Amino acid sequence: MTSKGNFCRKIGLIHENLSCLINNVLNFIIHFFKHVNPVYSSNYSNGISNEIPQNSDKKKTGSVKKLDDSIEKSQNNLNEVNDSKQGNAEKPQKARKYITLPGGKRKWIRILPPKVRGKDKKPRKKGKEHGNWKHGLGKTREYDSEKYAAWKEAVLRNCNFRCLVTGKTDKLNCHHLNSWDWYEEGRYDAANGVAITVDIHKEFHAKYGSGQNTFEEFEHFLFENYNMTLNDRQYGNHEPRFTTESVSQDLQRKQQEKQADLIELINSRNHELVSGIYKKSSSVIVIRCKIHDVIHETTATNYKKSKTGMSCCGRQRQSQATAYYNTLR
Ligand SMILES: [Zn+2]
Ligand SMILES: [Zn+2]
Repeated sequence: MTSKGNFCRKIGLIHENLSCLINNVLNFIIHFFKHVNPVYSSNYSNGISNEIPQNSDKKKTGSVKKLDDSIEKSQNNLNEVNDSKQGNAEKPQKARKYITLPGGKRKWIRILPPKVRGKDKKPRKKGKEHGNWKHGLGKTREYDSEKYAAWKEAVLRNCNFRCLVTGKTDKLNCHHLNSWDWYEEGRYDAANGVAITVDIHKEFHAKYGSGQNTFEEFEHFLFENYNMTLNDRQYGNHEPRFTTESVSQDLQRKQQEKQADLIELINSRNHELVSGIYKKSSSVIVIRCKIHDVIHETTATNYKKSKTGMSCCGRQRQSQATAYYNTLR
């Protein structure tokens, strides 16, 4: 037993000596390298790694530099934020605003930047330079007059609501053969007008100009471009011819009939017509309710379309209906 213990002690001593020797040798090497290359010294002394290639070290230093830069930047940003809080930097304009409406309600509204208009635009063309120049007679054209509407209607009826050249029924224009500006006696003469499509009308005036046009010009245009004359109307010509007077009488009669029908309807609803003439669907009429003594402004079409014509009578009708259904329960 003792011999065995002695042997063990001997081996331990040898081991201790060996480890001391190795440590000494290593220390010597470390010291040597410290003097030769100071970069490696720290790594060797720590004993983390024995092999460190130069490239990885370079990379590390680069990344450290980057980190430093980013920290500096963030610090700068922080400084800026502090500045803006103190009010040194310019504040960006708010896109919304919280307002108080009359009545106490509050709401967010959008704030739009002020529009700069007409800065880059060309100046508006006026007078002779304008595309729709009517040779100084623009204000005498009376486009909306009843006579003009009657002339237009008469021309269209004479042409059977078809284009003289193509026979199309949509996008029709009424063209004055002897133009409006010089031929005053024929301004409302149905025989002085023809129905043609917009494209052909534009083509004619592009070639022969607008204003100072004559009957002969249009004949020439038809013969040159479509090989036809004004007399051979392939889509028919209404006989007997309508005149502006006859058409205007006809239109007046129709309007009077409409008005009579409307008054009949108003009377049947126990209402009264205060003012307004029923010419077209958008014409405004003023009506008084005899039952509730309320005055209401509406259009003729809306009055005809609704069941009672006025809101006061409508409410009464509704309440009567609900009262009736309540009795059934
Ligand atoms: Zn024309
Ligand atoms: Zn009423």
